[in-house]
Amino acid sequence: MVKAERVCKNFGHVEVLKGIDLEVQQGEVMCVVGPSGSGKSTFLRCINHLEKVDAGRLWVDGHLVGYRQRGDKLYELREKEVAAQRRDIGMVFQRFNLFPHMTALQNVMEAPMLVKGESKDAAKARAEQLMERVGLSDRMGNYPSQLSGGQQQRVAIARALAMQPKLMLFDEPTSALDPELVGEVLDVMRDLAREGMTMVVVTHEMGFAREVGDSLVFMDGGVVVEQGVPREVLANPQHARTQAFLSKVL
Ligand code: ATP
Ligand code: MG
Repeated sequence: MVKAERVCKNFGHVEVLKGIDLEVQQGEVMCVVGPSGSGKSTFLRCINHLEKVDAGRLWVDGHLVGYRQRGDKLYELREKEVAAQRRDIGMVFQRFNLFPHMTALQNVMEAPMLVKGESKDAAKARAEQLMERVGLSDRMGNYPSQLSGGQQQRVAIARALAMQPKLMLFDEPTSALDPELVGEVLDVMRDLAREGMTMVVVTHEMGFAREVGDSLVFMDGGVVVEQGVPREVLANPQHARTQAFLSKVL
């Protein structure tokens, strides 16, 4: 579903991604951990076209991200084509970024109507289903300010799912939450994983990574230092940098 080959990204003179090689299979849940500044968010943002890759190649669902290949040459995609690629990718951030002037239900209905031209009735029917799926059928009419952080984040997940994405990216979705609200968001993510969604999850929740993750990637300094079955990486990290990091967070 996702394939990265020597993906590099610079900001000015700073090399943030220094050749990332990764593959995420359909239905796989990949958890990504690593110290602050290691390039985790940047990598997710590259997958979702929020940043442009400087070198290397990135594919989502068999399509080269941002480019079309003809022979040996790469041609940049036009804005419309990029938008079409992005439609299949859902992203959930640390901050929920809900539209404050819309109810929870309207937040979930908005993109399918605006981007896909779905009818209001169809969008509403799906949004109601999704709100139920994230356990918020009784909160559909609430505005974001009337919801807890955990509830807002579950609405944000429902909103991403409303576009029927093939891939979901999560960037520290529980880091901004009070500890007692973390579980309800992880539960929704766990259900999503069980239903077979392909997910890349940047997280500090090692319990979630161990239980739900099919693979665990440790990034440091813009490279993948270590990767494997979560239980094994967590119990028996091979690299000194992974050991040092895990000893701080576990
Ligand atoms: P954290 O755990 O703190 O979220 P991260 O692993 O997600 O860290 P990134 O946000 O990907 O790290 O950032 C990697 C590096 O790239 C950092 O040094 C950061 O300062 C730099 N960086 C990120 N975005 C930009 C930008 N738009 N312009 C310049 N530098 C940036
Ligand atoms: Mg980050």
